[in-house]
Amino acid sequence: MKNLYLFNTLSRRKEKFIPLENNKVKMYCCGPTVYNYAHIGNLRTYFFEDILKRVLLYNSYEVFHVMNITDVGHLVSDADEGEDKMEKGARREGKTVWEIAEFYTEAFKKDLSELNILYPDIWCRATENIEEQIKLIQCLEKKGYTYITSDGVYYDTSKFKDYGKLALLDIEGLEEGKRIAFSEEKRNKTDFALWKFSPKDVKRQMEWDSPWGKGFPGWHIECSAMSMKYLGETFDIHCGGVDHIPIHHTNEIAQSEGCTGKQFVRYWLHGEFLIEEKGKMAKSAGEFLRLPVLIEKGYSGLDYRYFMLMTHYRKKLKFSYVALDSAKKGFNNLKNEILELKDVIKKKEVQVPDYGDEKMSLWRERFIESINDDLNVTEGLGILWDMLKDGKLKPEEKLSLVDDFDRVLGLKLIEVEEEKIPKEILDLVEKRRIAKLNKQWEEADKIRDEIKAKGYEVLDLKNGTTKVRKII
Ligand code: AMP
Ligand code: ZN
Repeated sequence: MKNLYLFNTLSRRKEKFIPLENNKVKMYCCGPTVYNYAHIGNLRTYFFEDILKRVLLYNSYEVFHVMNITDVGHLVSDADEGEDKMEKGARREGKTVWEIAEFYTEAFKKDLSELNILYPDIWCRATENIEEQIKLIQCLEKKGYTYITSDGVYYDTSKFKDYGKLALLDIEGLEEGKRIAFSEEKRNKTDFALWKFSPKDVKRQMEWDSPWGKGFPGWHIECSAMSMKYLGETFDIHCGGVDHIPIHHTNEIAQSEGCTGKQFVRYWLHGEFLIEEKGKMAKSAGEFLRLPVLIEKGYSGLDYRYFMLMTHYRKKLKFSYVALDSAKKGFNNLKNEILELKDVIKKKEVQVPDYGDEKMSLWRERFIESINDDLNVTEGLGILWDMLKDGKLKPEEKLSLVDDFDRVLGLKLIEVEEEKIPKEILDLVEKRRIAKLNKQWEEADKIRDEIKAKGYEVLDLKNGTTKVRKII
């Protein structure tokens, strides 16, 4: 097995990946809050996690992958104040919270399918694991980490020795800069809600009894409770977007390690943001960019996947239609190369001497070396292109390597098929052939343009035959 190196946010270094248990990897990814559609920025994070999972699988690890669905408790403000995003979403649409949770969960899964992202082995909903969350809060209470205010049960972050180690937070600096408003009753600025009481004046749609009173869980507790439920008190990989480092994941560590006294997660991985030309990508602005909008404009989910493949996950990526167009073009060229290969194989046109299996192994090695260097699939994609140009590989060998590399790239390359050419086009091609035969060059060119206007191109091959294909 080759060495795999991953950048661990905990150490801010690339580390050799060694799972806790032989070749089994346990991985948890923070999922969506289902009060609205995912924007294409959110999807970049799930794409990066998909690449991580595919690289692990390529390295012959068995991966057990859990993702949560946040359907309660994520408040509009990160300071544990304001309305629950779910209740707000339900009011906006005149539906129940349960209905919008169902609707946006399905929309999210559809987005993942369009992007050819592998589903997790377990989807878990916060609302289906309330008991586990209450138990974890009780554990923290027993160990003296909690206190109660007029609106909930809070975590006293000054009691947890290493609070902020993931984000390298300057806690003292934060304490000094207390200008940012925070609830009078909070003991420390970084304290956060574990359980919030239902407001007295408003009836919430989602609320549960607890030892502390009727209410609902804070946002961070669900991920600690559910990840440990399915993966154990210590597991291999936890991931999400970079925005989760200073608050959400920092709080998850405080909750889990506060209760168990053991290391919670061994490798923390975070994906950088997708940004728009005008700056941060946000849902609050009303209209926002989501995958179905791109699809309506004529791009496929896989075009967007190719676009994302061209930038390493730890670099910011700026979205623009110009950049997306250029990715789409690159992807189309790649698909055309594969169609050519399939054609050549069918016709057995090209004979390449046998250079032996070693040639293929070398390409495989180059590929795995790139992807195992902190998921450098961008370089991996370049290697795929270089491999296609290697004159010493037989077409069948190339196609087999395409199939192999695509286990990681996930572009469905082997499924690319020539579409059946309509009779109308074939008739025009025949008309052009006759025009050429009669040396009516102008007429032949005119027909070629006509064919092009209908979305097809004619290629005159060296051996005197012609080939027609759809312009993709
Ligand atoms: P949310 O539904 O807001 O909890 O976000 C879902 C995931 O998307 C989280 O892992 C976030 O870190 C991530 N995320 C949010 N905004 C962006 C962005 N602009 N680019 C990449 N990932 C993002
Ligand atoms: Zn989470």
